[in-house]
Amino acid sequence: MAGLAFSQTTKSFSGGVPAFVRSLYDSYDTYEVKQITSRRLKHDEMMGILARLKDAMPAVLAMKQLGVSDEGRSINLLTLGNGKKKIFMWSQMHGDEPTATMGLIDALSYISKHRESPEIKKILSETTLLIIPMLNPDGAERFQRRSVYGIDINRDAKRLQTNEAKILKAARDSLSPEFGFNLHDQEPRYTVGMSGKVATIALLAPAMNYEKTDNPVRLRAKKVAAELADIFSPYIAGHISRYDDSYEPRAFGDKIQTWGTSTVLIESGGWKDDPEKMYIRKLNCVALLGIWYSIATDSYEKADIAHYESLPENKQNLYDIIIRGVTLKYSGALAPVIVDIGINVEESVSADSVVHRTGRIVDIGDLSTSQTFETIDGSGKYLDGNLVGMEKRVDVEALRTAMKNVSE
Ligand SMILES: [Zn+2]
Repeated sequence: MAGLAFSQTTKSFSGGVPAFVRSLYDSYDTYEVKQITSRRLKHDEMMGILARLKDAMPAVLAMKQLGVSDEGRSINLLTLGNGKKKIFMWSQMHGDEPTATMGLIDALSYISKHRESPEIKKILSETTLLIIPMLNPDGAERFQRRSVYGIDINRDAKRLQTNEAKILKAARDSLSPEFGFNLHDQEPRYTVGMSGKVATIALLAPAMNYEKTDNPVRLRAKKVAAELADIFSPYIAGHISRYDDSYEPRAFGDKIQTWGTSTVLIESGGWKDDPEKMYIRKLNCVALLGIWYSIATDSYEKADIAHYESLPENKQNLYDIIIRGVTLKYSGALAPVIVDIGINVEESVSADSVVHRTGRIVDIGDLSTSQTFETIDGSGKYLDGNLVGMEKRVDVEALRTAMKNVSE
């Protein structure tokens, strides 16, 4: 297939990981937590679900409160298994990035139903899973990136002013895990390099210094990232990118790598017709269980680092909708012009908690090098130029209806 990243067509892993991942993917319906239907997941709802999962497997899942957020919501550590390889992960450090939290909850649900399966027994005997779900519950409450103070917790790894950052740092230091997963959502309009394909998952083994040198800790993280690329690849081939690896000394991923935990950032991006990211949530669940099993069996050690390093970088080159080649006509002195119109769909929430999606015009002109989730063909058609303007909020269906044939 043209534009398919070359490294994503081959798989290197062994040890039964692909078969396990496939069965997780195919049977997802039987264990997903169906109560979660929206990515506006809040702390109360999550805590209710976690309490039920704990009751379903009291001997397997332990939950300990590590502290509270700046606004007083509990931040908890979930522990499963008693193996010597410690795998530490934290999700939703940014409050409006819940995809991995949902995926983690599904993965716990799978474990609760399949405790006696050989793969889960292996995970629980070889690894200890250490999970902080929803590190930023105050942000989640408001569906905003930042903490209640407006601080980006991922720029507070050095100064440690927020409770959330203090809790994460203290947990990392007291647990000293070998492996770390920093779980985020990214802008859903990134593409995989210039391929024109949306970046559904971006991976990163963060740098530890400005020179981006490797040491055994980062090399192990790159192996894990390569294994993850191979795990995701059968489902989203060509839709996997590499996140920008510039060193950021205030960020947790970079810091935690420096502190000796092999850390991989997983960013959940976009997928066509999936505004609630339910498909990407499924991919998170499947990949997390898959990589835990891979670490439990040491399969990841055989991964080819090139499968990570050759992933194209994220590029921002995508609009939700482009009306292509439409003529703008004006009643005054302005001559007609042919343009493409880039429109992104923005979300807002009304007082009754209903999510509204509205179009906003974000570019006008020659967008022939830009990609889109949806194309509206405007060739041979015209629009009243007064309906179009930068930053204008638009009803896309109304615009579609307003387009008339040029010959009329
Ligand atoms: Zn984030």
